[in-house]
Amino acid sequence: MARYTGPKCKLCRREGVKLYLKGQRCNSNKCAMERRPDPPGMHGRRRRRRSSSYGLQLREKQRIRRTYGLLEAQFFNFYKKAEQSKGITGHNLLIMLETRLDNVLFRSGFVATRQQARQLIRHGHVSVDGRKVDIPSQIIDPEETVRVREKSGMVPQIKFRLEKLQPQAVNWLEVDNKKLEIKVARRPQRDDIALPFNEQLVVELYSR
Ligand code: SF4
Repeated sequence: MARYTGPKCKLCRREGVKLYLKGQRCNSNKCAMERRPDPPGMHGRRRRRRSSSYGLQLREKQRIRRTYGLLEAQFFNFYKKAEQSKGITGHNLLIMLETRLDNVLFRSGFVATRQQARQLIRHGHVSVDGRKVDIPSQIIDPEETVRVREKSGMVPQIKFRLEKLQPQAVNWLEVDNKKLEIKVARRPQRDDIALPFNEQLVVELYSR
């Protein structure tokens, strides 16, 4: 599966917000947004012109897309599905992105980043309702159970992280840290997704 492999902090600097792509480092004083928040490039420090409405819509789309670590085509596919579903397209989009398998693992606190979650899944360490799954984009429905497989070599590393950092899972997941099991208790709502993004701008962008 194609993915972005370039420098991550550059993406945050380009978007002008912290996208939290590097786990622990994002909350430390090593974060590039703390030390050098200007846009990347040799003219980054120069004052920029005010953005057009198109520019604002484009930036918002890029922020959401980069937060979830998707390429353009993958993101657009999600948008199309969101548009075809009942309800508000922008909300549908974010809810679908939140319920991706890689994001569910990330939100449980088992891993520090969505990229680590994807690696765990790709390498066959995860099962959904007892079936091995290696597709990070799979949508996890309410009542489905995600589990890190018992024989996985990653179990000690994840348990160590959980004991040391005691991360908090989001409230729409039921997490059992001992069994390394995550149950999707309910479908998240827009209010459950604590991201400061205006998804309506994405809808306006794709509706042009
Ligand atoms: Fe972004 Fe800072 Fe994390 Fe780098 S360390 S990915 S700049 S939030």
